[in-house]
Formats: sequence, structure tokens, C-alpha cells
Amino acid sequence: MQYRVGVGYDIHRLVEGRKLFLGAVEIPYTKGLLGHSDGDALIHALCDALLGALALGDIGEHFPDTDSKYQGIASSQLLKTVKELLDKSGYKINNLDVIIIAQEPKLIPFKIHMKEKICALLGIRQDALNIKAKTNEGLDAVGRLEAIACYATASLIKGTRR
Ligand code: MG
Repeated sequence: MQYRVGVGYDIHRLVEGRKLFLGAVEIPYTKGLLGHSDGDALIHALCDALLGALALGDIGEHFPDTDSKYQGIASSQLLKTVKELLDKSGYKINNLDVIIIAQEPKLIPFKIHMKEKICALLGIRQDALNIKAKTNEGLDAVGRLEAIACYATASLIKGTRR
């Protein structure tokens, strides 16, 4: 069996007048993430982790923010496109692990919804995805409620899954 691993990172500014999307779920909050798309930093980090594992570059190359066709796009659409690249490669997702770093809002109640959405989009079992959420202990831009950052790791496998 062959294995591959990829890592992804993203950060978006928190601003007023935008809806907050994380993990393809709309989360009630006073601010949202600024971006060319819906600003879903979790999905962007996940796309980059998968692209990294496939040695296919990064999300900015595949979905340039200079292209008006991605203006306001739901990031779940970007993840679907990355899934198509994954399917073509012959690799399958072994497991995914993600971290959301947000000072606010409290994300624990929404993690199960994010998990359901992402697993459905990627066609994986729920035990193949872990979502962690933490604050930044009040430090730096994330701690000052100016941004939300996300990290993701993807492990892929070619061959028979356990
Ligand atoms: Mg992004």
C-alpha cells in the first residue's frame, strides 16, 4: 500500500457584515470571514491538505481569487472539485485531522454539523475526520477577534482500506 500526507493552513479576517462559514456550516455570530469566496478557512485548509498530499500545488492555483467565477462561491464547491482530483488519482482518504483556532464564537456545538457536512462532501466515514477547536488564549490577531485560522492534515492511501 502507498501512503501520502499533506498539510494545509489558512487564515481569514473577521469582519462585520459577512456571514460566518466554517466547515461548510453557517455559524451564528456578529462577524464573518472576509474572502473572495465565502471565506471558509476550514474548507480552504482542508483543500490545501488534500492538494498537498496529491502533490497538486495549492488552492490559489486551482481557484484564483482574480477569477470572477469564484466570487462569493460556497467553499464546499471548491472541496468537491478537489475531491474529483482525488478520485482521479486513485488515492482514498485514510484520515483527516483539522484544527480551528478561533477566540470566538464557541464552536463545540457546531463540530458535529461540520463533520456531517464534510464527510458527506468527501464520501468518507465520520471516524475518518477529526475536528479540533481551540482559542488563541487572547493572543495575536486571532486572540483579538480579528481573524480565524485553521490547520489541516490529510493522510491518503492507495490500496485496500482496513
Ligand atoms: Mg482562504
